[in-house]
Amino acid sequence: MATIQWYPGHMNKAKNQIQEHLKLVDAVLEIRDARLPLSSANPVLDQLIQSKKRIIILNKQDLADSSQTKKWQEYLHQQQIMSLAIDAQHTNHLQIIVQALEKLMAAKLQKFRRSGVKNYTIRAMCIGIPNVGKSTILNKLAGKNVAVTGNRPGVTKNQNWIKTKSQIELLDTPGVLWPKIDDQTVGLKLALSGAIKDSLVSAMDLAIFALEYWQHYYSPQLQAAYHLNNTDVTLSSDKLLIKLTQQFGFKDDYERTALKIIQDVRKGVLGRYTLDMVNEIE
Ligand code: GDP
Repeated sequence: MATIQWYPGHMNKAKNQIQEHLKLVDAVLEIRDARLPLSSANPVLDQLIQSKKRIIILNKQDLADSSQTKKWQEYLHQQQIMSLAIDAQHTNHLQIIVQALEKLMAAKLQKFRRSGVKNYTIRAMCIGIPNVGKSTILNKLAGKNVAVTGNRPGVTKNQNWIKTKSQIELLDTPGVLWPKIDDQTVGLKLALSGAIKDSLVSAMDLAIFALEYWQHYYSPQLQAAYHLNNTDVTLSSDKLLIKLTQQFGFKDDYERTALKIIQDVRKGVLGRYTLDMVNEIE
């Protein structure tokens, strides 16, 4: 999906649109990338949703390091935030989301039932930065193409509700937030995972960042993917890039090596990975 270029005007429009839509819902499904549980969040959302109930969905779990996803879910649980880890792309039925919403809203539903309102419908909406899988999730929940992929900020349309088998409906237009790139590392993480445009970061910087990260956290996977020995993975990352260039037979085309490493990360050649480690925040 095309990446939106965000300007202050866009950000305000997106914020206002989300604020308007939030008035219509009881709960929020905050979609994040399971590989970036922190960097794919936008703190503005916390201010926007205030007292609304929320579930954090760690999507693309098929690409993330499962032990880290588990730790992130434990961490969120400790913060009393309900979370789900899903793979919206390869799952046909996302009933798990509806069930989680029912659980989240159980008290409210019960309260209405007790006061005689039998069919109160809980309404929820998806919110997240571009590319985390909002449209994929909404389409799967609706069983057809509903969400506007590539929805641009400020584009308003009539609200349609995606009905589910239970007393829950979802707004078919997701709220699009911009990624908060407050330091270079966050920018590199977002670019490496494909959340933001490549052109915003140089391929060389991105590949060096990836090599350093894999040398630190995923050294066995790096060794296995590129047939490296124990000493190779302890080289400085720029020396390692030079070595790989020779190994790939790319002569002195380091840029080509950088691009290959980036593609390999994205294609999963270097294994499943999480770029925000839970212990970084603890
Ligand atoms: P949106 O911008 O948040 O609406 O994101 P999209 O729904 O357009 O998804 C962005 C890209 O991620 C698309 O290429 C999807 O096919 C892909 N995608 C969505 N969910 C998953 C998932 O769970 N796993 C994987 N591997 N890819 C996903």
